[in-house]
Amino acid sequence: MAAKSQPNVPKAKSIDSITNDRTASQGQWGRAWEVDWFSLGSIIFLLLCAPFIVYYFIMACDQYSCALTGPVVDIATGRAQLSDIWAKTPPITRKAAQLYTLWVTFQVLLYTSLPDFCHKFLPGYVGGIQEGAVTPAGVVNKYQINGLQAWLLTHLLWFANAHLLSWFSPTIIFDNWIPLLWCANILGYAVSTFAMVKGYFFPTSARDCKFTGNFFYNYMMGVEFNPRIGKWFDFKLFFNGRPGIVAWTLINLSFAAKQRELHGHVTNAMVLVNVLQAIYVIDFFWNETWYLKTIDICHDHFGWYLGWGDCVWLPYLYTLQGLYLVYHPVQLSTPHAMGVLLLGLVGYYIFRVANHQKDLFRRTDGRCLIWGKKPKVIECSYTSADGQRHHSKLLVSGFWGVARHFNYVGDLMGSLAYCLACGGGHLLPYFYIIYMAILLTHRCLRDEHRCASKYGRDWERYTAAVPYRLLPGIF
Ligand code: NDP
Repeated sequence: MAAKSQPNVPKAKSIDSITNDRTASQGQWGRAWEVDWFSLGSIIFLLLCAPFIVYYFIMACDQYSCALTGPVVDIATGRAQLSDIWAKTPPITRKAAQLYTLWVTFQVLLYTSLPDFCHKFLPGYVGGIQEGAVTPAGVVNKYQINGLQAWLLTHLLWFANAHLLSWFSPTIIFDNWIPLLWCANILGYAVSTFAMVKGYFFPTSARDCKFTGNFFYNYMMGVEFNPRIGKWFDFKLFFNGRPGIVAWTLINLSFAAKQRELHGHVTNAMVLVNVLQAIYVIDFFWNETWYLKTIDICHDHFGWYLGWGDCVWLPYLYTLQGLYLVYHPVQLSTPHAMGVLLLGLVGYYIFRVANHQKDLFRRTDGRCLIWGKKPKVIECSYTSADGQRHHSKLLVSGFWGVARHFNYVGDLMGSLAYCLACGGGHLLPYFYIIYMAILLTHRCLRDEHRCASKYGRDWERYTAAVPYRLLPGIF
């Protein structure tokens, strides 16, 4: 992709020519205060269509063995009507509602009632009470980081059930997949609506609320920055990580169990998808403290985008590969499987090292080594809404000197590996890489827009030193 949206890509300058600009940005940064027509149109489209997109994918697997065009062709040729498809769709059931309530309650309890003990015995793991980034209003929140512990205990219980207790079938998630979808939607809408009302009437930090005057934008992108109940129940941290991401690996395990039940064995493609995605999930929880400094937590407000997205979009669409492999038990040739594994691991390596470089750099205030050398730095400053001047640094070494978001490239390589594990029979499992490419490109543009308003001329100096966003020479 050519760098069309950035017509004036500046040439790379020598870092020595970069001087610190103390006249950097003033005023507001963070999520938008005003909504243009394009954003409004996209938001209304997403609010109306996203639940149907998720339904369409899951229904296509359930009724058409994951053939994405199946429902459209049947309707277009008169072989089926919408009402026929709907009539064959499993409704919400009491069992699914109980299961889902139990699941969410269990995760809430693990989150709120069990202070982290993993950091006491796991060398290198940072958990327990940690601080987030400075919010636009100048607030620094504290978080109880115990996601790894929640993930470990949940999976311990899952394996204990599968091998010893037999309280429930390991295929339970697959067997209730569509009824559970309705429950996830109810929670997603309930929590987003609650967050909106809370933002208006009883916000946790009124100074960090943003009102655009547009109801749809406020509902989708959120009003409150860090809604909380009590001191510790933080909506963003809870809904981003649990129940969705803890569930991700369980959902995959349930799909593997179903594949074995239906076809008598688990294929190497299913093993690859389970292993590569488990690495990503464990990495997320191992680095939950780092996650406090990512865009989701330290820049996005909590609305439908995060609330519904974490409850429905993530667990249902990020697990499409495993679901597909239940219907199509692909067994890959050894070279194909090795290629997928290599791509997944190299992608993960870039993703992790790039994120680690920035984290290390920020934590040590630049007093560290990146690729064995003292890092190159751009000093920058910004003003929070309370008028306070803050200083920060931008890293220009390591992967952050190759491109401004090379961490996204690693993520995209990993995402492609999951899809390639499903072979070339159908388009459906490739939805993930298409979606991730759109998400991360959009995120990259959104983040750069925000950084430009936050750092002003200091950000310009960074884009001059590192001219490309994702791929050097291309974009
Ligand atoms: P980044 O980790 O890239 O964070 C961007 C922020 O880092 C900027 O807003 C800025 O914040 C700071 N920053 C930017 N450039 C520099 C620099 N050169 N030196 C120091 N700090 C810099 O973005 P995300 O939070 O989006 O992503 C984190 C990871 O999560 C990525 O690897 C991404 O791939 C992954 N991800 C995965 C998703 C999924 O659905 N699977 C969704 C979203 C992300 P500041 O204001 O502090 O300067």
